[in-house]
Amino acid sequence: MSQPGIPASGGVPTGLQAQNGAAPASGSHYSNGPVQNALMTSQVSVSQGYNSQLPGSYPHLIPAKTLNPVPEQSNSGGSQTLSPLSSYQGPGQTLYRPPVASNPVTPSLHSGSVSRVPPPTSQNPAATPMPSGSFPPGANIPPPLNWQYNYSPQTNHYPRASSQPAMSGNTNLTNHQYVSSADTSLQNNFIKSGSTPPLVSPPLPTTFQPGAPLGPPPTGGPPPVRALPPQKSTLRAVSQPSFNSASKQEATPQPTNKNPTVSRSVGYSYPSLPPGYQHTTPPSMAGMPPSSFSYPSGPQAFTQTPLGANHLTASMSGLSLHPEGLRVVNLLQERNMLPSTPLQPPVPNLHEDIQKLNCNPELFRCTLTGIPQTQALLNKAKLPLGLLLHPFKDLVQLPVVTSSTIVRCRSCRTYINPFVSFLDQRRWKCNLCYRVNDVPEEFMYNPLTRVYGEPHRRPEVQNATIEFMAPSEYMLRPPQPPVYLFVFDVSHNAVETGYLNSVCQSLLDNLDLLPGNTRTKIGFITFDSTIHFYSLQEGLSQPQMLIVSDIEDVFIPMPENLLVNLNESKELVQDLLKTLPQMFTKTLETQSALGPALQAAYKLMSPTGGRMSVFQTQLPTLGVGALKPREEPNQRSSAKEIHLTPSTDFYKKLALDCSGQQVAVDLFLLSGQYSDLASLGCISRYSAGSVYYYPSYHHQHNPVQVQKLQKELHRYLTRKIGFEAVMRIRCTKGLSIHTFHGNFFVRSTDLLSLPNVNPDAGYAVQMSVEESLTDTQLVSFQSALLYTSSKGERRIRVHTLCLPVVSTLNEVFLGADVQAISGLLANMAVDRSVTASLSDARDALVNAVIDSLSAYRSSVLSNQQPGLMVPFSLRLFPLFVLALLKQKSFQTGTNARLDERIFAMCQVKNQPLVYLMLTTHPNLYRVDNLSDEGAININDRTIPQPPILQLSVEKLSRDGAFLMDAGSVLMLWVGRNCGHTFLSQVLGVENYALIPQTMTDLPELDTPESARTIAFISWLREQRPFYPILYVIRDESPMKTNFLQNMVEDRTESALSYYEFLLHIQQQVNK
Ligand SMILES: [Zn+2]
Repeated sequence: MSQPGIPASGGVPTGLQAQNGAAPASGSHYSNGPVQNALMTSQVSVSQGYNSQLPGSYPHLIPAKTLNPVPEQSNSGGSQTLSPLSSYQGPGQTLYRPPVASNPVTPSLHSGSVSRVPPPTSQNPAATPMPSGSFPPGANIPPPLNWQYNYSPQTNHYPRASSQPAMSGNTNLTNHQYVSSADTSLQNNFIKSGSTPPLVSPPLPTTFQPGAPLGPPPTGGPPPVRALPPQKSTLRAVSQPSFNSASKQEATPQPTNKNPTVSRSVGYSYPSLPPGYQHTTPPSMAGMPPSSFSYPSGPQAFTQTPLGANHLTASMSGLSLHPEGLRVVNLLQERNMLPSTPLQPPVPNLHEDIQKLNCNPELFRCTLTGIPQTQALLNKAKLPLGLLLHPFKDLVQLPVVTSSTIVRCRSCRTYINPFVSFLDQRRWKCNLCYRVNDVPEEFMYNPLTRVYGEPHRRPEVQNATIEFMAPSEYMLRPPQPPVYLFVFDVSHNAVETGYLNSVCQSLLDNLDLLPGNTRTKIGFITFDSTIHFYSLQEGLSQPQMLIVSDIEDVFIPMPENLLVNLNESKELVQDLLKTLPQMFTKTLETQSALGPALQAAYKLMSPTGGRMSVFQTQLPTLGVGALKPREEPNQRSSAKEIHLTPSTDFYKKLALDCSGQQVAVDLFLLSGQYSDLASLGCISRYSAGSVYYYPSYHHQHNPVQVQKLQKELHRYLTRKIGFEAVMRIRCTKGLSIHTFHGNFFVRSTDLLSLPNVNPDAGYAVQMSVEESLTDTQLVSFQSALLYTSSKGERRIRVHTLCLPVVSTLNEVFLGADVQAISGLLANMAVDRSVTASLSDARDALVNAVIDSLSAYRSSVLSNQQPGLMVPFSLRLFPLFVLALLKQKSFQTGTNARLDERIFAMCQVKNQPLVYLMLTTHPNLYRVDNLSDEGAININDRTIPQPPILQLSVEKLSRDGAFLMDAGSVLMLWVGRNCGHTFLSQVLGVENYALIPQTMTDLPELDTPESARTIAFISWLREQRPFYPILYVIRDESPMKTNFLQNMVEDRTESALSYYEFLLHIQQQVNK
């Protein structure tokens, strides 16, 4: 079976081996030299580096690429016993069925609901005449295109993007539609960019470039000419005396130090222009001539962002380097390098015009923003090379293109993107494989400007993030309907926790918000020692329960009535949800046949695919997939002998079956006891699902968990979802992707199978430099995610990232992205923990710091100063690695229960980088003295901006209150001597003793202090799609331990303080 939609790329043969854990046999690899390190664990380890060739290296936890044969779907029913239709009567209820509501329209969560206007034709009476000069004299009116461009605001989680698109100009649309799904009043706003200066300069005085390939004129007139940016004669100059000007062999000839005044942009600040979709005026528009702009009626000047070999000189010049970025830091002297505002990703050293078009680092970033020219250079740096992706993130605005032609490279299938180069109007050169492709006739026309001969200004070439409506060739079958199946544990243990009430209520509350359309299907299965199905067939007066007691060979009774159309059977569904929590209250059944229930659910969903949501409260005990307790409390402290690997391959195999049928399984584990998440979690991991964990969930004893489940369920049930998805990541020739991290199944060399994709999932990949990039100045990475929306549309979301190639070690270090590096290392360390041991993984993390800083010291620094000298870009590297060592995934000591550790590891693998970093190294703020000084203003709200503090108890004081933002939780610790103002004006209590033991919300008081605190906390919450619970923690509260555990700079029983860690690193580095 060929993959739907995304045809195979050129292929990277080594990827296949690497995914299976076998390293490519040749070629140089990222490896750390043998380093003695006995500090972090008792084990002295040699060669703990990330050399994929060595045993003990980070292996590739990619499922084997053999797809399991699809199990038989049919059931003979021979030996099965069906307790037929023990027609259930809800406790004392008669379930009447009112008339079915007529297809209520589910509110749209994303741009899927955009109204589509049929492509107008030239006869469109409403069409406004073209601005004169839009076409060269004699130009043919372009053929009517099936072309549409939606700039659609998406789910609205990002209040910061509050500004409205520019409203000026008066261009009307003729051949295309530019609509906003969220606010129809915004329609056409985006084309009105008359007031916006064009991003690509308007036609410069044309420069004829001898020998430049020129295409034929569009029609008549002189040939189009590419206007080149003025070339500057100087390259960059690194004038820092302390830097070695790199090794001679690697340095390409360049006028280094010839002109020290030429500044160079490493730009360690965010680009002033946010990427396209966040831009109030989309870059695609900025690149267009304003509507009032009259093109010269003669030749169409052909300008394009300078790209490619000829333009690197230009692209590297005229930039200014932030001097801070070049600084060498002695961490032993400057220990507090933590910025007081959230750390921003480094900006690649690219020409401003290219960088403006680049992908937002929140979606797509690389551990090294300067790609080493050779694997040898990468090896020297001892830093991991890889990408971190958040491909399906909710976006405020996303350009959506509907076009009959999706332009892709004929050779490697790359989607046309802002970083291709146009040789002329008729030909473009692929930035991944360098093939020269023809520009299709349709693409010659830019529907935004209605100008012919502007392929380089089409939105596809102006947006690094874009979504295409896929034509039918991207489908193997008609897009599947949204199918949601819920599988509930109803054993005695489950009933005890009282979770069913919460979950059923959440479902009732959010039923109309489930993403979908009139085709949405829903179904329910419950299980204890038997499996219970519910017939919800339209026309029944009440739901009917069917019990299958043969769990050895599960079959599906009445398969046609178990997954039903939500609209048609909504009343029955609601009846069932209201009744379910009471149905099992008297149960004495303690057994759990999870495995058979999952098999049944899989069979039920196989014909359609969809999302399976499984709620489990204990260790499964019956039938296939039954598990035994493996946790031994006295082994918790040991970093060696703990069970991180699954005890059975049942869940993985079933997950692969699910993946093959486009079913993803999300696991909600609500358990007070060990439930072997290491085994259970495989069901989600390989089917591209998610794992949620609520240790010690209890409806009465643990109100905080109850609230957490409610909030997370709301997000889970209502967030966007993509079905039957595949993702492929391509990169420029010479680079090779060899290991993937995240929840998915690798279907072929580089095609990730994602039965579901959700906007909260992150992915990471590792890369190597297979062929020298000596002749390459820029490399690109492109991810393409093909999915079916909940509205039944086939769509492709494409992100393209462009980065410069560098030739010196110094440049590699200057461009290091310490957050991305830490995130990738964390992913590698999870794999290493599972395949080798936890201590092995911990050593590898420490060695990553030692090796890279040693390389920096020996190969970049010219004079060997005492101290721990680090490049500015890596000033937080030791701190973040120390934080990882203290993170639940990798910590030693008795604190971490096995399931909690496994869950933390699942989170490392599945979380987008930003949340992984917040979990690992939370942000700490003092909040009892918030002021408006330095506050920001959003929509008339004043949001205080307290500085971020180091994570050390030294920063705390008993007379204050401190807020810790750890991503999914916010902890507000109130000191015993906290001022009365904060207590009364913010917490609403008269004295410290009156702070409730469990407090998860701040009262809204009519005081400026309350307003400030609430504004700040709300602002933090609004920046993420889920709702972090706030815990107010008194000094003697048991939660205080959790708060203090995150003080990563402090010493604990089993771990070093930050300063001790630095001393250790220094010792090793200066050996
Ligand atoms: Zn190509």
